[in-house]
Parts: sequence; structure tokens; C-alpha cells
Amino acid sequence: MNPSFDGRKIYRHFVDDLQVKRIHFLNQNHTRDSASATTAGAAARFLLGALEEWIRDADLTVHVRQFTEPLKRLCASAAPAIPPPRYVAMTIRANGNVAIDDDLRNTLPPLFKLDLNVKSSTLTDFLNHAAVASFHRLSCEVPSVCSQCGAKEVCRAGSGLGESVLHRYSFVKKFNNASLFCSSHKAIIIRLEQFALSHGISWSIIERNMAKMSTHSIQIP
Ligand code: SF4
Repeated sequence: MNPSFDGRKIYRHFVDDLQVKRIHFLNQNHTRDSASATTAGAAARFLLGALEEWIRDADLTVHVRQFTEPLKRLCASAAPAIPPPRYVAMTIRANGNVAIDDDLRNTLPPLFKLDLNVKSSTLTDFLNHAAVASFHRLSCEVPSVCSQCGAKEVCRAGSGLGESVLHRYSFVKKFNNASLFCSSHKAIIIRLEQFALSHGISWSIIERNMAKMSTHSIQIP
């Protein structure tokens, strides 16, 4: 998404003109180091504008990943019986070379030179590759600041709102950071809480769902 545009208008265009029912607004590919001081604020303005239109429609057949998924977790009547599934992303180049999620190509270039190719390597070779396994372990750990957050179970360090782990990365602290878009996530979750309360969900349910589990790992979208 281009955060300099008006999120309300973009949402209306997709839903009214194009009749789109499933939307994921992708934030720009920045690490904590590469983002400008205005990146997060502009994204928050865009998304909160789109969220107001989504709430105004109150049409839950329109699935917006950043809104629908956290709203479901806020309103859940019970904790899930099993932990959420974990996913890993893989990039396969035209020549068959295998690497991690393409979002991280410029941030972690060694993980795009693994000497693995679909002709001669298995999925297990990829998952057990020392550098890949280390990346997955680090990116799945809950950042220390997020483990203290009152919205940790809904936000999940950003993954609960469809964020790439790229947005947590910095050269010094690696993946042990809150999301670059933390303030945006908090603002969206607060607005979704208000929406849920106005539709009869009790505060006790919302409060329990916000921070109910002491998670040791987070889902990779
Ligand atoms: S990214 Fe921000 S809102 Fe999300 S869990 Fe971490 S501290 Fe909380």
C-alpha cells in the first residue's frame, strides 16, 4: 500500500468498484533501521481510515486480514484447543535455488546463498540447514518488549495482523524488537475493541483474549 494515499478511498475502491472480498494491505518492506521517522505514522493513518470504512459497512463477508483476524481473536469465546499452526515461507528462483522468504533478500543476503536447489535438495535439507534453522528459531521468539505488552496475544509481535518478521528486524537486536508498525497495531486493536464492545462482547472476554497466554513462540504468516 502507498500510505500517502487515503485509506478510506482505497478501501471503497476495492470493495465498491472492484467487489473485492478478501484484502491484505501490505506495509512497505522496511526494517527498523531502514524506515523513516514518518513510516509508521503514515501507515497507521492509512489503515485506520480503511478500518473506519470496514466498521461502517459492518459486512463481515469482507475479510481484511489486519482487521478480521485480530477481531476474531478479541472475541473468541474460548482459548484454541491446539496452538496455531506454524508456517515457513520459501523462495524458489527460476534456476531452482532455494532460500527463505523473499521479503528478506536485501536484509539477510547470506540466506539467499544456501547451496540448495530443488533438483538435489529436500524440504528437510532446507529446514535443517543451520542458517535457516537459526533464522526460523530467532524470528519465532517473542521479542522481550512484546512479552510485556497488554495486547500480545492479539498482535503476536505483528504476525497477528499479517506482518512480516522483516518489520521487527534491526542490525543490532536482530528480531528482538517490537514491530516497526507497533503503534499502528495498537491503534487498530483499540478501535477493534471499541467495535467489539459496541456489538455486545464483554470487556472481560476481550481483556482475557488480549493477553491470555504466555506465548513462547509466534506464528510466521
Ligand atoms: S508489536 Fe507492539 S502492539 Fe504488538 S505485541 Fe509487540 S509491543 Fe505489543
